[in-house]
Amino acid sequence: MIGFPPATCRRLVIKVGSALLVAPDGSVRRAWLDSLVTEIAERRAAGQQIAVVSSGAIALGARRLGLAKGGRATLEDAQAAAAVGQIALSRVWADLLVGHGLTAAQMLVTLGDLEDRRRYLNASATLDRLIGLGAVPVVNENDSVATEEIRFGDNDRLAARIGQAARADAVVLLSDIDGLYTANPQSHPDATLIPLVEKIDARIAAMADGKSASGMGSGGMISKLEAARIATGAGTHLAIISGRVNAPLGHWQETGRGTLFHASARRGARKDWLAGRLTVKGHITVDAGAAEALRKGRSLLPAGTTASSGSYARGDVIDIVGPDGVRIARGLAQYDSHDAERIVGKRSDQIARLLGAAPRAALVHRDHMVLLS
Ligand code: GLU
Repeated sequence: MIGFPPATCRRLVIKVGSALLVAPDGSVRRAWLDSLVTEIAERRAAGQQIAVVSSGAIALGARRLGLAKGGRATLEDAQAAAAVGQIALSRVWADLLVGHGLTAAQMLVTLGDLEDRRRYLNASATLDRLIGLGAVPVVNENDSVATEEIRFGDNDRLAARIGQAARADAVVLLSDIDGLYTANPQSHPDATLIPLVEKIDARIAAMADGKSASGMGSGGMISKLEAARIATGAGTHLAIISGRVNAPLGHWQETGRGTLFHASARRGARKDWLAGRLTVKGHITVDAGAAEALRKGRSLLPAGTTASSGSYARGDVIDIVGPDGVRIARGLAQYDSHDAERIVGKRSDQIARLLGAAPRAALVHRDHMVLLS
């Protein structure tokens, strides 16, 4: 039995995948959705605050436009399908919520809205206000304007970011699979469900593969694990449970079946935001000694670095990678990539000579850095 009761947590984000919302023929699975909305209404009445992240725009729009491959053949198709489907999706949510005396609030966000610190704080404040006013935010990616390089692409990671922005206690991913298995159960019938994950290490990561079971949404287990990494790193629990049953939250509570990823301790809002960023501009590779120093909480000095890659400006987010290729930390660059390349591996006294001045001792200061492993 899972030791964490989602019914009693203060603020919950529920993510609904496309395959749960939309039947293979492209129609809305209204009866199922109503069973979920009934649960949402009960929980709200009991004082729980809820936000929803809903997929389904592309799948719904594809049917109305008669597009092949569920509207995902090209980016233009997906954008057009989302523009048509999002209206239908909002209407379904608004109708069902209103039927239970609740007000729906639509929020469409792009990756940039949550990657840029100011816009992130803005989205966070709006979510907070809506929830405080008793509305139920229904969030989706603004797919019709998000292009390949600036889109989440999957709502699992979006849900984790919304959980973080809303300072939720837990995120529940309702999925067509009931949790994380030791291997993909479709190809490995003997795979077993993992009920609890305390830490997402290499062993856990190896259990996931990328495919979405339904082929309708875009998130497979890899994006769910990435979502779990973002959420738990920000101090938010994340659960993957089956949405294949009516009233899925109650079913989870009764059976305990699912995978719960335990939250780690909160690092502070700014560092959480930094750790959850999905776009990084470059990488700095360090030697084993520097890797150890970083893990002890030190700043990154040029002397312990071996390479810099990517093109970044001062203040951009970069990853710091160990000699084994494992991401150790993420932080804000204190030098642009051009200067960083010149001072990689150099001692402080050499840097002043190379750059004419050594304005900052560290490539990444520990105050602007968050450890990832
Ligand atoms: N935002 C997409 C939609 O509404 C879904 C993304 C996903 O499959 O996770 O259709």
